[in-house]
Amino acid sequence: NSLEVSFDLTPTEAYTDEQNVPLATEEALANDQVPAREMVLPPADVAGTHGTDEATETNGNPQNSQQHQQQHDPEGNPTGGGQRVTPWEVEADEETGIDYDKLIIQFGCSKITEDHISRIERLTKQRAHRFLRRGLFFSHRDLDMLLNAYEQGEPFYLYTGRGPSSEALHLGHLVPFWFTKWLQDAFNVPLVIQLTDDEKFLFKENLTVEECKRLAYENAKDILAIGFDKDKTFIFSDLDYIQTMYPLVLQIQKKVTYNQSRGIFGFTESDNIGKSAFPAVQAAPAFPACFPAMFGNRKDIMCLIPQAIDQDPYFRMTRDVAPRLGFNKPALIHSRFVPALQGNQTKMAGSQVASSIFVTDTPKEIKTKINKYAFSGGRATVEEHRELGADLSVDVSYQYLTYLMEDDQELKRIGDDYAAGRLLTGEVKQKLVDVLQPIIKAHQDARAKITDEDVRSFMDPTRFEGKKLI
Ligand code: ATP
Ligand code: MG
Repeated sequence: NSLEVSFDLTPTEAYTDEQNVPLATEEALANDQVPAREMVLPPADVAGTHGTDEATETNGNPQNSQQHQQQHDPEGNPTGGGQRVTPWEVEADEETGIDYDKLIIQFGCSKITEDHISRIERLTKQRAHRFLRRGLFFSHRDLDMLLNAYEQGEPFYLYTGRGPSSEALHLGHLVPFWFTKWLQDAFNVPLVIQLTDDEKFLFKENLTVEECKRLAYENAKDILAIGFDKDKTFIFSDLDYIQTMYPLVLQIQKKVTYNQSRGIFGFTESDNIGKSAFPAVQAAPAFPACFPAMFGNRKDIMCLIPQAIDQDPYFRMTRDVAPRLGFNKPALIHSRFVPALQGNQTKMAGSQVASSIFVTDTPKEIKTKINKYAFSGGRATVEEHRELGADLSVDVSYQYLTYLMEDDQELKRIGDDYAAGRLLTGEVKQKLVDVLQPIIKAHQDARAKITDEDVRSFMDPTRFEGKKLI
């Protein structure tokens, strides 16, 4: 078990060839037993640009795709199951993508079960969101504890966020926000949204402080277009709001050693010192003391953090610190990644333009991208496809449909027909285009209505003063 590696080993000695190192567990963290780990940067060319426009007859997939090469051991046998998931990189060696069951074990979190889902339905008196029913949100920490407390009438708030690294969000960025909106409405709870413009400045080479702040405001419009409850939602840029958080940030920083920060996040000695200190800024909003205008000086209010699972390391650290500062550990609920158009091995990523559907895409761009790039689980020829049917587990269009199509019965029909070869890839792609175009259009219309004044007002914490939020 790599967690038992002692700190006498330098990162390079310990992990030169071992990329698949589980990040530190909470237990290891508490004992300062985290493994040192080199930061692994995303591969430069993930997304590739192969594919053809006419995907109707055959699957249109690249024939000799570099990206679907397996890793092999020295004897030439596939090593199997290799995957790397960090806040900076998401990559699997297998065509079927990240093995999420394995990731749960690696990270030491827990699976969301049918019991959790029916419990949430009972408590909220509504049907669970399709992201829950269909397993997009699949993992958690302390969800039972949070639901128990909620059942007893204890309050909680939601916390989520966004690193404003680019002008336009993509579908993968919207997922946690859509789900957070559903949670806010279903549980009727306050929500705080952090824009980590400070983080983007520290981590991205070419961004100025001013540009990061501008991107935070631009992204805020996209986030507010999702329709959060104004009376219960606070959105803030770290650069703006740091003063209020700072006492808490300091307390967190004092409880985390450099060894831990480096072990959890893989920082190296040549990384700037801001990176090592930043995780405390992302941790702080998990504690209600960060928001005196909303929660007064109550320390007992619990927090639930919806997030993609690559953010878990931040909150493992947060949960380790929480009791030592007299707060509850935040509960976490994790999503899978929306896969890249090119297939399950990587996630949709803003820096890989061809991998993503952006919220700014036109209907035509959406159609073209899906037809051109969406990896198909269909067979190479129509005859073969009719006989064998599609492999749904690698088919990107079908997976997007499972996340986006509300109608359970129609989704099932499409899945059954496609798997049996009655539907061709081109037909399934067309169904996805029909579902996706109106979703993106509706988002664009909603965003166009968000004014600078709306953003300012959502970012103003003083409007909560004297109001009872909890
Ligand atoms: P870049 O390619 O520049 O890293 P990105 O698309 O990965 O861009 P980030 O700003 O790094 O965007 O993403 C921030 C966070 O958003 C990620 O750490 C992850 O939690 C979430 N996220 C990004 N892409 C996806 C995705 N495809 N599915 C689900 N969540 C995602
Ligand atoms: Mg990224």
